[in-house]
Amino acid sequence: MARHDLTIRFWGVRGSHPVPGTKTSIYGGNTACIEIKSKQHTLILDAGTGIIPLGENLLSEYRKNGAEDKLNVTVLLSHTHHDHIQGLPYFKPAYKRFCSINIFGPELLGASLEHSLSQNMDPQYYPVRFEALNARKNVHDFNEKERLLFHRDDEMPQILNGKDNGKLILDDDLVVHACKSPTHPIDGVLMFKIVSNGKTIVYATDTEGVAGGDENVIAFAAGADVLIHDAQYVKEEYADSADPKRGFGHSTVEMACEVAEKAQVGKLILFHHDPSHDDARMAEIEKHAQSRFTNSNAGKEGMELHV
Ligand SMILES: [Zn+2]
Ligand SMILES: [Zn+2]
Repeated sequence: MARHDLTIRFWGVRGSHPVPGTKTSIYGGNTACIEIKSKQHTLILDAGTGIIPLGENLLSEYRKNGAEDKLNVTVLLSHTHHDHIQGLPYFKPAYKRFCSINIFGPELLGASLEHSLSQNMDPQYYPVRFEALNARKNVHDFNEKERLLFHRDDEMPQILNGKDNGKLILDDDLVVHACKSPTHPIDGVLMFKIVSNGKTIVYATDTEGVAGGDENVIAFAAGADVLIHDAQYVKEEYADSADPKRGFGHSTVEMACEVAEKAQVGKLILFHHDPSHDDARMAEIEKHAQSRFTNSNAGKEGMELHV
């Protein structure tokens, strides 16, 4: 029997802002959120509006399973732009005492992650303060010098730094690596690499490529089984002289395909779709990507991959 170690489920694939409605019902209109499940752990990549239905689902699974243990989740934030955190105040597990949430992400523009998340829920913007959420919260400024080690069913991951390089990592441990991509205004983003049992998933959103492929991303994604890569624009939009998108911190479909090819990944998933791209446009974009890198798909809400 084929052994699947990691399951990837897409809950939000849009960039910038949500686009509900009939024209986006196939690919989906929620902003960035991906669930990665191993046997023992649930990781969530970004907390766009996709985290709202994910939260409902986590609670209903928890109740179905008898609701005896704590519900543990770990959220990895690429950065704190709205489309990556706007679902967090509506993430129902955050209100439950039986839930424990670890949040890891970058310190941006000198502000700690906890400060940025807390500011987003100041009373001018939201009636419940971040500090008042009932779940047990552990918020940590994460950087590329550190790794997270999830061992067995430990509630909290261990944070490893350079000193722990010799640490024994077991096959079924899950390790998260980070790499800073400076190409997103104003202070860059973190890309994540999730490794377990020799399987690798790389998440590189809100990163702007270059012709020939961004060496930093290619090196980080080398040999990954699945690469989830920003592909907000088609190249005509990127270079459009009347309304250019260069410098916005996002890649074209071509840039994503180039990285996938040079990094020799197994599969490419286009991500952070532009809100102006409706289902018909997305289907064309997906086809175009497949002509450039055969094993590629556009991320779609509800899509599930087994790695
Ligand atoms: Zn974004
Ligand atoms: Zn952004």
